[in-house]
Amino acid sequence: MFWADEVALELKKRKLPLEWVDDMKTPSGKIHVGALRGVVIHDLAYKTLKDAGVNAKYTYIFDNHDPMDSLPIYLPKEKFEKYMGVPLYKIPSPEIGFANYAEFYAKDFISVFTKIGCTPEILWATELYESGRMNDSIKEILDKTEEVKKIYEELYKKPLAKDWYPFQVYCIKCGKVSTTKVIDWDGKEVKFVCSVDRLEWTKGCGYEGKTSPFSSKENIVGKLPWKIEWAVKWKVVGITVEGAGKDHMSKGGSHDLADEICKRIIKYPTPFPLGYEFFLIGGKKMSSSKGLGSSAAEMLDILPAEILRFLMVKTKLSRAIDFDPGGYTIPNLFDEYQKSADAYFSRSVPGGNKTNDDLARIFELSQISKVIKPPTVRFSVLCQWVQMPNMGEEIKKEGLGLWAKYARVWVDKFAPENEKFSVKNELPKEARNLSREQKKTLLRIAEELDKKWTGDEFQTRIYDLGKEMGLSGKETFAAIYISLIGKDHGPKAAWLILSLDKDFVKKRFTEV
Ligand SMILES: [Zn+2]
Repeated sequence: MFWADEVALELKKRKLPLEWVDDMKTPSGKIHVGALRGVVIHDLAYKTLKDAGVNAKYTYIFDNHDPMDSLPIYLPKEKFEKYMGVPLYKIPSPEIGFANYAEFYAKDFISVFTKIGCTPEILWATELYESGRMNDSIKEILDKTEEVKKIYEELYKKPLAKDWYPFQVYCIKCGKVSTTKVIDWDGKEVKFVCSVDRLEWTKGCGYEGKTSPFSSKENIVGKLPWKIEWAVKWKVVGITVEGAGKDHMSKGGSHDLADEICKRIIKYPTPFPLGYEFFLIGGKKMSSSKGLGSSAAEMLDILPAEILRFLMVKTKLSRAIDFDPGGYTIPNLFDEYQKSADAYFSRSVPGGNKTNDDLARIFELSQISKVIKPPTVRFSVLCQWVQMPNMGEEIKKEGLGLWAKYARVWVDKFAPENEKFSVKNELPKEARNLSREQKKTLLRIAEELDKKWTGDEFQTRIYDLGKEMGLSGKETFAAIYISLIGKDHGPKAAWLILSLDKDFVKKRFTEV
């Protein structure tokens, strides 16, 4: 059984009135494709729960209140450096038309995951604070500072400072949060300092003062440290299913801390954890805050939505996705997708194949809004078609327009050199070295061009003509390739010839 269906059946046994699936991200810059894996995994949990007849809901929280703690390389330093340490929702958007920095990057990411069929309800962390819903837990956490400290010290085996408190204030004077440190809590207010030189990457203003830690509609005064906040959000929202990438889920990681906070401080059952491996590009992990690696949006420039979704649906949680767009990765992915479609459509035929149920389910869950039968022409063939002249009609007829766009991208950006070709305007000089038999065969082919041919029939005919001259198939086809594209290999010869202007081919073969 497909893993998400297994999870759904397992969760169904809990008989909760509502399974609330959630995922989250800090929109600190262009969000990379790794974060997309989380969205899809949680989407699968949500959809399989619904399929299993469980009442379910799916939300996505943007932690728009986190501070900017590094500057993406694609942003102008002179404009944004001064915001280091400031909450993201208080930083201006890099482009006009957005309320703030966090919203700009969040909306870019939302548009990508919407395109691949994920439509969680969006929540903003600032709204959780503004609504006052976090306040009870903030008080509880601050009141139990000693116990919270113990959890940190047990987990990280390192003593915390005597005046450590689990809260971060937005400095009343300079607005930064990274630079502040709470040093006291009297049950009503926290005392804090904004250190000028504590951090190497940004300066505080030196302000010292007191503030209530409780936010309201008028004013967000600060935030919980995020690992604690993670647990509090679970409780405040009512989340019952949420996991993260393995960096957070490893032993002693942030999830362990949030789990302890749930058990020992706020008394809330830790949501069912969906932990998953990384999404690497060419073996490298990416970072959105540093602006390294492929952004989620860029992935849709090289893969159609259903194929990008398929890549994430088909890979088990416990396995890393290492996507290297070079070589044959992309054509192979299209082939696999077509195979899964075959499994799906043969299953739905009465008496059809039932052995590939998982593959069929993967296809089903890779669909964006409704099930769409993919083209049957292989992507590798399409990649040849887009390099041939006059194939536009054929591509349109077969309904390949969209995939053809991606075939062009693969040829231009990722295809190995031997996959690329173009029909030469002048007779390639290599054609001089063809044998008498090869040259004669080309003449014979030219004579047959006026007949009506299908690709398959013509391919056989070409082969037979060469055979009559005593040539192997390889020698026959090489003659064609060398005369037309100046290489000894190429796409299926009959289709290549038929895609070209008849008189052009006749003239070229006669010239040889
Ligand atoms: Zn300050």
